[in-house]
Amino acid sequence: MKEFNPADNIQDLQYFGEFGGVNPSISDSSTYTFLSAKTMFDTFEGNAEGCYLYSRHSSPSNLYLGQALAAMEGTEAANVTASGMGAITSVLLQLCKGGDSIISSRTVYGGTYAFMKNFLPGFGISTSFVDITNPEAVEAAITPTSKVLYCETVSNPLLEIADIETLAGIAKKHNLALVVDNTFSPLSVSPYKLGADVVIHSLTKFINGSSDTVGGVICGTQQFIDDLRNVNAGAAMLLGPTMDSLRAASILKNLRTLHIRIKQHSYNALHLAQHFEQDGLTVVYPGLESHRGHNKYKGMINPEYGFGGLLTIDVGSLDKANELMELMQHRNLGYLAVSLGFYKTLFSAPGSSTSSEIPAEEQKQMGLSDGLIRFSIGLDNDIERTYSMMRQCMAELGIIK
Ligand SMILES: *Cc1c(COP(=O)(O)O)cnc(C)c1O
Repeated sequence: MKEFNPADNIQDLQYFGEFGGVNPSISDSSTYTFLSAKTMFDTFEGNAEGCYLYSRHSSPSNLYLGQALAAMEGTEAANVTASGMGAITSVLLQLCKGGDSIISSRTVYGGTYAFMKNFLPGFGISTSFVDITNPEAVEAAITPTSKVLYCETVSNPLLEIADIETLAGIAKKHNLALVVDNTFSPLSVSPYKLGADVVIHSLTKFINGSSDTVGGVICGTQQFIDDLRNVNAGAAMLLGPTMDSLRAASILKNLRTLHIRIKQHSYNALHLAQHFEQDGLTVVYPGLESHRGHNKYKGMINPEYGFGGLLTIDVGSLDKANELMELMQHRNLGYLAVSLGFYKTLFSAPGSSTSSEIPAEEQKQMGLSDGLIRFSIGLDNDIERTYSMMRQCMAELGIIK
């Protein structure tokens, strides 16, 4: 049997647009006509395959993008959403009702953390945050009300690795749904193949890759995706986090080059990580042997896509971090901006930005220090040239000799 390769699966899809276009036609409509009233009724009941009802439910352009992302993750189906948070919140509200609880990695995206910590308790849903790299701690946190085990494959911003196969074993044993946010590692890791039940992405990042829109996707079984879209009780239908059709069409076109981009992001990030480490900096990158999860991650990835485009360095203090980021931006080495997966390098200090939802005391506990800079390494053509220029900035600020 052919080995699972996410990019080949995307390539093997074939679409034709109206009039023989090489891209699928965009459906620029919010509502759809029916030839018979009976078909309209059946569509509401969810029984009319291939019929469209109303674009909050589904639309051809959104289904094309969903199909490509399901092929990428190896799931039966997928539902695209207006943002990554639209995907995460819909999944959690679909799977958990008042009285249920969640076990979550303590190092997750700041918005996800805030939703679980501050928003869900108002609906009677509680979350225990655990060290996801410690399976005993995960299992010990499970109670009779637990419904979901939640993690990121590569965590934001500490780049910890979740051992998805082990977590899937724990989830199965206790009848929990394992939900994995794979935003940092598209193509590199295929969580569904490793036993996850639901895979989520923020399309805003690597998958779209051009920092011009937000978007999200939920990948899972046909049954789960149908449940999410159900007109009577589906979170994706009733909360309305619907992606616009025009945007779905543009993201699908960007998805075509994802495999090339990911390889270049990974190549560039590994080069910088290795050189920064040789310079004596504290570097965290899953591709370095010094990374705590390196060996595990090496066994998890589809190797041709590498270890990803994210790395962190610790320059000691927030002031130094800010000075360095401002200087690098001044020299046009990247932008001082949140988000990731752009052609240009993006850097930010997570403690005071993307993870600022996490209280200072908890940041300290999880190892999120003030001087930490998160880099999303760009598609630079000559990474050695970039390295010399970054090194020069660090030397001028006394960060390295
Ligand atoms: C950005 C991000 C999200 C949220 O996605 P949006 O598209 O901004 O709503 C969720 N998880 C991770 C890991 C992210 O990086």
